[in-house]
Order: sequence, then structure tokens, then C-alpha cells
Amino acid sequence: MAETDFDVVVIGSGPGGYVCAIRAAQLGMKVACVEKRATLGGTCLNVGCIPSKAMLQSSEKFSEARHGLAAFGVKVGNVELDLPGLIAHKDKVVADNVNGVAFLFKKNKIEWVKGAGKVRGAGTVDVALNDGGARTITTRNIIIATGSDVATLPGITIDEKQIISSTGALALQSVPASMVVIGGGYIGLEMGSVWQRLGAKVTVVEFLDRILPGMDGDVSKQMQRILAKQGMAFKLSTKVMAAKTGKAGVELTLEPAAGGTAETMTVDVVLVAVGRKPYTESLGLAEAGVALDDKGRVKTDAHFQTSVPGIYAIGDVIAGPMLAHKAEDEGVAVAEIIAGQAGHVNYDAIPGVVYTWPEAASVGKTEEQVKAEGIAYKVGKFPFTANGRARAMAATDGFVKVIADKATDRVLGVHILGADAGHLIAEAAIAMEFGASAEDIGRTCHAHPTLSESVKEAALAVDGRPIHI
Ligand code: FAD
Ligand code: NAD
Repeated sequence: MAETDFDVVVIGSGPGGYVCAIRAAQLGMKVACVEKRATLGGTCLNVGCIPSKAMLQSSEKFSEARHGLAAFGVKVGNVELDLPGLIAHKDKVVADNVNGVAFLFKKNKIEWVKGAGKVRGAGTVDVALNDGGARTITTRNIIIATGSDVATLPGITIDEKQIISSTGALALQSVPASMVVIGGGYIGLEMGSVWQRLGAKVTVVEFLDRILPGMDGDVSKQMQRILAKQGMAFKLSTKVMAAKTGKAGVELTLEPAAGGTAETMTVDVVLVAVGRKPYTESLGLAEAGVALDDKGRVKTDAHFQTSVPGIYAIGDVIAGPMLAHKAEDEGVAVAEIIAGQAGHVNYDAIPGVVYTWPEAASVGKTEEQVKAEGIAYKVGKFPFTANGRARAMAATDGFVKVIADKATDRVLGVHILGADAGHLIAEAAIAMEFGASAEDIGRTCHAHPTLSESVKEAALAVDGRPIHI
């Protein structure tokens, strides 16, 4: 093979792209990463996971200081919101994270090519440099890691002021009095929670008859009840037909999902959170012969190779859940595959976490899925009301639910609604990765007093023998 500039060129520096670049460099390859954004880290670090979690953390503390401390015997004076301070905290967290990736690139001798990459064909990437001019790079392997972009609704134009996407929701200059969130998924509930805690009256409009449609039905139902108690309103089985901006706010026209009489409501801000779409714009994929699937995602085989040998794709731009850790694991796997190793991602054990209060976390199959697949199963459930640590934390909302195969007891899915569910789900993911049975979890010693004892108890409940209920 002719001499090339690089062994690997990654297009996009999100959690898929930057992690892939680092792993490839660790494996001795000469790596470049093409990124057009002014900072590294992609959606996740710049306008996704990290800033949203910073704002969730701040708003949670504000809400707790205002409403939650008296229960612990702590009296506070007048609690005030410093929104510019909150945004500054978020911006600093983002800056620290994106600079961290730049440091890791230097440490691993990865070249950041600053500009927009276009695939000319196997082995060649053309870059329109951010500073002007162009550069053509030759490489043995190309990894497409260009991620995703906000999905929009027909007839609704996002102006990032009155009608906003998640990006606008991370940068509002004042707390709106009222907000409609279109979509009761991850972003709708997380960013809806942030602005609700800061004082907005939030209404979630969801097309389906339940929020969090991908999660276990018990989690969705109870999550809705808890969020409603916090003051969030829900309009399920409802579609937004039109949104008109004006001086008085945004006038929305809503209709029952199945059709029927329309109603209107006027709010200050509308957040559109109806999903994300793969980002393949201006990448030259059609000309290069890289095939897409019917949903516009780059089509890949089991080894992340596209329809063109030597061109791979990972992360949000391919099929599968649009989650940062899924993108990261694919980045590691494809680097290892290119290096001749057996890179692999276990799609049956990818956790998902909604960082509301309480959190919802899930790994493996939901009860609806095992039913639909005709699998004989057993369920063990344990409520946090029966957990000593949860009582001490005044965080007794929620439960742990373990679903196991009826014949083999193998864990098929774990679903947690409760404080710190996002951390608790890690043990379930490891258990599933190792093919554990519910009994394995139930017989493992869990520290007392911790919330994790509820995971053990739910596993014991699969066999009808929890101790504390
Ligand atoms: P991305 O992170 O989207 O990165 C792609 C990069 O490619 C971008 O920087 C883009 O500028 C660059 N790019 C695109 N085209 C080109 C080109 N032609 N040339 C050069 N560069 C290009 N997931 C979680 O797991 N946990 C969370 O808590 C979470 N919270 C989220 C909150 C919000 C508000 C949003 C929007 C998303 C959240 N996600 C979360 C999803 C997560 O951000 C994505 O799954 C993840 O970023 C996907 O990583 P990626 O590497 O595939 O792509
Ligand atoms: P989502 O897929 O989680 O939720 C979209 C919701 O909008 C669904 O409930 C869907 O039924 C509903 N919907 C779709 N069309 C609608 C319409 N016309 N009217 C009303 N409701 C409609 O998508 P999202 O919340 O926009 O987030 C995008 C992606 O980003 C998600 O897929 C998720 O993987 C990722 N994300 C993850 C996290 C996390 O891991 N904590 C946080 C934020 C975003």
C-alpha cells in the first residue's frame, strides 16, 4: 500500500470520535481527528450531556435549598437564584472538559485538523480548514463519527429564543414564566426539570400515551406521577400542529394524537425535544458510495465497516441508542478491530439514565419487551421506602425492578427509579455482562446502609425472598 499521511483519520471529535482517536493512538497508530467546531468533545461535551448535567446539578441544589432542607433540620434564609452564576458554572464545566480532550490529544500525539471534513473516497479526506484554505489528507482508514443534530417538526421553526432546541435550553438569559416542552423523552424531562426547578411552569406535550417510551412501563408511570407532584404538567397522546411566535409569547395549536378538536395555548418558551437525527450533511457520502439506511443513518456491518472498505462509522450517526457511552464503546471497538484485535460492543447491556430527580436508569430488556418476545420471566421489585439509607436521605420515591429468565434465572433487565439510579445501574450492567443470575446478585454482599441494598433485595424478590418487605 502506498505511503499515507495517517493510519486513521476520524471525522468528528464527540465521545465516539475522540475516544476512538485515543484508543487508535494507544494501539500505535498515527491518528488525526477532523473537527469543525471551535472546541473538541462534540455534542456531548459542548451542548449535550455535560452542560445539561451541570445545570441539573445547580437547579437541584437550588430546589433543595428552597424546599428540601427543612426535612433534615436545616433552616436557611431567603434562597435566591443567580442565573448568570448558574450559567457561568455550566460554562466552566464545559471549558474544563473540552480542554481536557485537547490535552489528551496532545498527550497521545493526535493531530486535530481544524475544519470540515469531506470523504472523497476510501483513503482520502478533503478538509475545508476553519482558517481558510483546504487540505487533503491520505489515510489507511477513515472513521465517520459526525454524530447527530436536533430533529425538527414540520411547520415549527426553531429561533433559539422563543422556540428553542436543547442548545437554546442551555443558554436562556432569564427564567420563562411558562414553557411547553414538546416530547417527553430524555431531553424534555431533563431540561424541563431544570427550568421547572428554577421557576417556570412547565407542560410536557407528548405524542404517545406515555412519557419515556423506551423505558419500562412501571418506571414511566411512576416517573410521571413524581414529576407531576413536583409541578410538571403533562398532555399525553397530544400532537402540536402549529407554533406561532409573537410579542405575547408562542401560540401553540394542539390536537389529540388520534385527531379531534384542536385547542390553543400561549406560553413564553417552547422547547422542541422530539429526538435527534444522524448528521451526514456535506460529508460527500453519496459521491463516495457510502450507503445510508432508510432512517438516514450510515449503514455499517458488525465490524462498523460501511459499504466502502476502509471507511467505518460509529456513534449517533449509525443505528442504535444515541448515547455517549455507546458511541465511546464503538470508538474503542473499531480502533481495536482496525488494529487486528477482536473489538466488540454488547448491545444487550448498554445502560440508559435519565438525570431527573429522582433518576431513571435501565439496562437490558423492559417487561414490555420480554412479553412481546414471548420469554417466560420472573420479576422482583423492591421499593426505596423500605431502604434505611433512602429514608435517611429523605429519598424514598421509586423502586428497583429485576427481570430474570424464568427457567435459568439469568438477569434479562434491571430498571431503577430513584435517587442515584444512574450510579446504581452500573452493578446491573456488570452483572449482565458476566451473564449473572438474579441469585448471583442476591447472594453478593452489599454494603449497609446503601441504596444498593435495594438492588440486592429486588434480586432476592425474584425468588420471592426479600428480607425487608
Ligand atoms: P457528537 O457528539 O454529535 O459529535 C460529532 C462531532 O462531529 C461534532 O462535534 C461535530 O461538530 C463534528 N462534525 C460533524 N460533521 C463534521 C465534519 N464534516 N467535519 C468535521 N467535524 C464534523 N448521552 C448520554 O449518554 N448521556 C447524557 O446525559 C446525554 N445528555 C444529552 C443531553 C443533550 C441536551 C443532548 C443533545 C444529548 C445528550 N446525550 C447524552 C447524547 C450524546 O450527546 C450523544 O449520544 C453523543 O454526543 C454522540 O456522540 P458522537 O461522537 O456520535 O457525536
Ligand atoms: P427522545 O427520543 O428521548 O424523546 C423524544 C420524545 O418525543 C419521545 O417520547 C417521542 O414519543 C416524542 N415525540 C416525537 N414526536 C413528537 C411530536 N410530534 N409531538 C410530541 N411528542 C413527540 O429524544 P430527545 O429527548 O430529543 O433526545 C434525543 C436523544 O439524545 C435521545 O435519543 C437520547 O438518546 C439522547 N439524550 C440522552 C440523554 C441521557 O442519556 N440522559 C439526555 C438527553 C438526550
